Amino acid sequence: MSTSIDNFLHLCAPGVQALQPYLPGKPVAELEREYGIRNAVKLASNENPFGPSPLALAAAKEVLPDLSRYPEGSGYLLVERLAEKHQLEPSCITLGNGSNDVLDIIARVFLTPDHEAVFSQHAFAVYPIAVQAVGATARIAPAHDGRHGAAYGHDLAAMLELIGPATRLVFIANPNNPTGTWLGSDELEQFIAALPAHVMVVIDEAYFEYVEQADYPDTSTWLARFPNLIVTRTFSKAYGLAGLRIGYALSHPDVAGLLNRVRQPFNVNSVAQAAALAALDDVDYLQQCIMFNREGMTQLVTGFETLGLSYIKSVGNFVAVDTGRSGADVFTALLQKGVIVRPVANYGMPGHLRVTVGRSEENARFLGALELVLRD
Ligand SMILES: *Cc1c(COP(=O)(O)O)cnc(C)c1O
Repeated sequence: MSTSIDNFLHLCAPGVQALQPYLPGKPVAELEREYGIRNAVKLASNENPFGPSPLALAAAKEVLPDLSRYPEGSGYLLVERLAEKHQLEPSCITLGNGSNDVLDIIARVFLTPDHEAVFSQHAFAVYPIAVQAVGATARIAPAHDGRHGAAYGHDLAAMLELIGPATRLVFIANPNNPTGTWLGSDELEQFIAALPAHVMVVIDEAYFEYVEQADYPDTSTWLARFPNLIVTRTFSKAYGLAGLRIGYALSHPDVAGLLNRVRQPFNVNSVAQAAALAALDDVDYLQQCIMFNREGMTQLVTGFETLGLSYIKSVGNFVAVDTGRSGADVFTALLQKGVIVRPVANYGMPGHLRVTVGRSEENARFLGALELVLRD
């Protein structure tokens, strides 16, 4: 029997047929193997360049002898701790294998092929995947063009226009990846208040800890007022635990109950639970990482200004810079110099590169390589 991808393609679910897989950042080890180089620098996945808190590492090591046991499926201790942190009942919390897992669970709970989800142009790439995988339809609102709100940022009025009887979900990343743009308290609150009761709104706050703008909302405090609100957070970014895969959703307890029906019983492993619990206690470490991120961001954007490049003002731990030419070409040229960043043509931004704020020496290495590449 001869087979080709077409044989299987026509067997698979319609939503999956049209899916483009998520493109992860290139791992350092892969680049070093392919190019025969050493000391490559990865500024491509918005990871914490300082690693996890030493307390989290110690807690992770401590549970290793128990790895033959299943994790506690309820994540009891971590859920209690998160409930205390957010001043919510433990029944409001759903743990995920990274917040991507939670986004996926939400799509499976609320969407069918008869339903639609609304999100913005240039929004986080996991939203279209989660929506299409369940066969639902994505309605994509054009982003701001810079005349009203920040260019490339979510245009809430345009998003509201796409809401209809078939809409069940709205995804908003605040701040958004890869643009780094953010929404202020008033406009976001007005948007949520304007949504009809049959629409759930997901506010993805993956970079919450990094944002220092006074007008940036902690939407977890709005849950009592908006029962259709789901807030997602992660330990992958500022907490430096991306490799362990742990995130969570905050919602009305009844919504959490629905998410729990679909959630795999042991979706969050025991090491991740222990490390996350300890990471929450290391406030000093988190504050230090945030301070270094602020300094690193200044270093990067100052470098861009020196090179005459424009960039999108970002409140996260990454920034999208306009190379003024093919971002893919600059990306490849940077790889040859041992620097991995992220091309974002798949986000409709072919001239931009997304660069994660690294340690100061990594940022300097990237800026030096960029200057050389642009000169060629
Ligand atoms: C990185 C990121 C996430 C987090 O993914 P995890 O699965 O928690 O690692 C979620 N949303 C956005 C917008 C992100 O950039």
